[in-house]
Amino acid sequence: MDTDDDLFDFVIVGAGVAGCVLASRISHRRPDLRVLLIEAGVQKDERTSGAMAFAGGFDSDLEWNYRSVPQERAFGGDTVCLTSGKIIGGGSGVNYQVFTRGPAIDYDEWADLVHDERWSWNGMLAYFKKAEMWYPSVEMKEKGLVTADSHGDSGPIKVSHATNSGKPRNYPLRKKIREFHELLGRKRVDDINNGQQLGYSEAFNSTYEGLRSFASSYPLGSNVTLWTESVVERLIMKGKTAEGVIVIRNGTRVRVRARREVILSAGAQGSPKILLLSGIGPTTELDRYNITPVADLPVGKGYTDHPNIFTYWTIDDPNVTMGDGEMETPQVHWLAGLPYDWISFAPADEKAHKMAEQTLNPTVFDRYAADGKMQVENFVLYACVDTSTRKNPLQGWPGKRVLSLMHILVDPVSRGTLTLSSADPDDAPVLDPKLLASPVDRLALYENVRETARAIQAVEGLNAVEFGVDDSLRDNWSDEALDIRANRSGGSVFHCSGSCAMGEAVDTDCKVLELEKLRVVDASVIPLPLAAHYQAPCYAIAEQAADMILSSIA
Ligand SMILES: Cc1cc2nc3c(=O)[nH]c(=O)nc-3n(C[C@H](O)[C@H](O)[C@H](O)COP(=O)(O)OP(=O)(O)OC[C@H]3O[C@@H](n4cnc5c(N)ncnc54)[C@H](O)[C@@H]3O)c2cc1C
Repeated sequence: MDTDDDLFDFVIVGAGVAGCVLASRISHRRPDLRVLLIEAGVQKDERTSGAMAFAGGFDSDLEWNYRSVPQERAFGGDTVCLTSGKIIGGGSGVNYQVFTRGPAIDYDEWADLVHDERWSWNGMLAYFKKAEMWYPSVEMKEKGLVTADSHGDSGPIKVSHATNSGKPRNYPLRKKIREFHELLGRKRVDDINNGQQLGYSEAFNSTYEGLRSFASSYPLGSNVTLWTESVVERLIMKGKTAEGVIVIRNGTRVRVRARREVILSAGAQGSPKILLLSGIGPTTELDRYNITPVADLPVGKGYTDHPNIFTYWTIDDPNVTMGDGEMETPQVHWLAGLPYDWISFAPADEKAHKMAEQTLNPTVFDRYAADGKMQVENFVLYACVDTSTRKNPLQGWPGKRVLSLMHILVDPVSRGTLTLSSADPDDAPVLDPKLLASPVDRLALYENVRETARAIQAVEGLNAVEFGVDDSLRDNWSDEALDIRANRSGGSVFHCSGSCAMGEAVDTDCKVLELEKLRVVDASVIPLPLAAHYQAPCYAIAEQAADMILSSIA
């Protein structure tokens, strides 16, 4: 039964990274306004708090657990896991806590594309700083590399490094993996989060002293009403104006209205789904399900994600890696920080660049090849990790220490789509990120796997031997052999974006084009892939949007 409920100034849908920031900033700056924050997931769950706490993870009630459609050009035509967080904090409550902002050049390209300098690196820097409270690593402090001009010291999100996890982490493996990044030809950069990301640096994480730091640490004002376990079905539209939303709450369908604005922060899968169900999207899509069109916009069209492949290596290093020895030693407490030290980014190799030049349109190629752009990312986990949820996961345990080497394509040229599977809000959307659909992407990622395989085997004293493949494949790095590895342990790193892209579906104030009183603020609006893990960008996007919203109602 429908019940007419309440009237708020702002109705924010989704209490993930962006939704928590918006509700916090708006409510504190304007205590006179009433804000409703609606979240499908629960308020809190102890499975999310520790640094290594993502065990709740896949297939749990804390995630949406969507899968893609079969990926035609990758992973043996299989589907891939495209999960996202379903709890206060959204993705930041379940993610792996890697904290990278991405390079300045990516934001400058974004600003150029939408003709608005507020989205350039210089336009975003103040917002990156506002979100974070950075704890420099031991080494950074010793070397005096603490750069206050690029980092925040009083934001709600604690950002630190493995050496801040209570133990010195001076095991020899740390040095050897550093050598691995150097063998790849990557230069040491002091601070990978200051806009100059090309090279390798100590990894930044959203953890401190063994605890995850996530969007739920943004304090909500007393003028925020928080509804958890409440799912927004669609918008209430009056002509071209968003008047409110329809929510399923305690088994009842409730209508709530916004005096000023409805803001969708339901993530790059949730926000476009709500728009499409509300008649905002490509008319042909809406017609298919008899949804009355409100605005013909390319919602769901630029859906993009970062593909990755794991390879696994046994090593002779006498030091522990996680899972095969004591969990706590004088050097490390594995539960108190993430099991890795270094992270690096680089451009795709020459072959991929050549192919890009021959196949991409000149504007796209110029962007791809611009000085400072990077396409690949690598890091080495001191543990056996597989996030691919493939049908044939890694089998067995070698009785030796294992490293997992991660290869991520952070600047894919392939673009996918998000569409509806029906007009029923309970049905999952159809997600087709088209991972590795472009031969340029496939070549860039595969060359990176080949290059890193050579480097890890060249690290002196490591004696890295590939694990998890048949003997016949071990020294075979042909495309066909890489297909087999990718089919075993490849997938997405859960960085979906672009499904309500700025300049296409929303304007540079994140307002939905052609409509009134409606914004989208989350990863959906990112118009180009960023060479980043997306929580840091999403914090900054929402911080910037909060300022825009507040100044628009001053
Ligand atoms: C397993 C995993 C690992 C990841 N690892 C990393 C990492 O190491 N580092 C990193 O930077 N990023 C990582 N990410 C990505 C990062 O967490 C996301 O990019 C980021 O959270 C996106 O923020 P957002 O505000 O766009 O959406 P989200 O944080 O996803 O928030 C959206 C919120 O909206 C809610 N919602 C959706 N639909 C509805 C509805 N209809 N009604 C009500 N509420 C709704 C959701 O439950 C969710 O809480 C990872 C993500 C996952 C899933």
